[in-house]
Amino acid sequence: GALLQAIDLKKVYRSQSGTEFAAVNGISLSVKTGEIFGVVGESGSGKSTLARMLLRLIEPTSGDIVFDGQNITSLTGEPLRQMRRHMQFVFQNPHSALNGRHTIGDAIGEPLRIQTGMSRRDIEARTEALLDIVQLPTMFKYRYPHELSGGQKQRVCIARAIALNPRLLILDEPTSALDISVQAQVLDFLQQLRAELNLTYVFISHNLAVIRQICDRTIVMKRGEIVEQGDTEQIFLSP
Ligand code: ADP
Ligand code: ADP
Repeated sequence: GALLQAIDLKKVYRSQSGTEFAAVNGISLSVKTGEIFGVVGESGSGKSTLARMLLRLIEPTSGDIVFDGQNITSLTGEPLRQMRRHMQFVFQNPHSALNGRHTIGDAIGEPLRIQTGMSRRDIEARTEALLDIVQLPTMFKYRYPHELSGGQKQRVCIARAIALNPRLLILDEPTSALDISVQAQVLDFLQQLRAELNLTYVFISHNLAVIRQICDRTIVMKRGEIVEQGDTEQIFLSP
């Protein structure tokens, strides 16, 4: 069934001169449990605005968001915090997503420290297990971000995103800041991870080759609207 649904979602920005502009203009979609759902579109088409609304990082102007059968559009406070554990975000740029003054171990353990009552020892063990899941050596927990490559840093960001056992990851251009050769590795790794952990992904990209490699179904956005949707293969067949 559907894990995440958007129903006629809109986000209208108002400029200082008072003109209104719909960055997302009536998007409806349904992400099935276990699939990789692609969102593709040129820069400025509204992909990030859509993602940030789905995560409830910004408020929709209108429309609804339903996660696992629960309408989360107006959740606040503790219920919103609880819901966020199940839906995590992986950003485009692993270099700026990590604080240079914190060790890798601290970065991965941060959500565990903040959002759970786990003991230091349990957090340490879980941090090591997470490094193992993302195929990095345990000893990396003592390192700082500048001592890691871009691909390694993105694995750290993924480890942090899965620390609380979420059901859904929203990945916003997760490989765009990486070298081409590393991109393919991270994509392969993401596919493995989804199978191992029963994850569902919303995968945002402007890169058609990447979408084609990894996504089951895809929507194509233009000026805040869906201009095409369906099985990824079919979308790329159409003229
Ligand atoms: P994409 O992720 O596809 O590049 P965005 O969602 O970032 O697109 O942006 C969609 C449109 O909304 C762009 O024209 C952008 O300039 C505009 N926009 C994004 N955020 C804001 C904001 N906070 N205020 C005003 N306009 C915004
Ligand atoms: P400052 O010392 O400038 O007040 P912090 O060092 O507390 O700032 O955090 C700076 C930014 O890094 C914040 O956006 C915060 O969310 C993020 N951040 C904090 N702790 C970590 C961490 N362990 N790993 C990655 N990012 C972190």
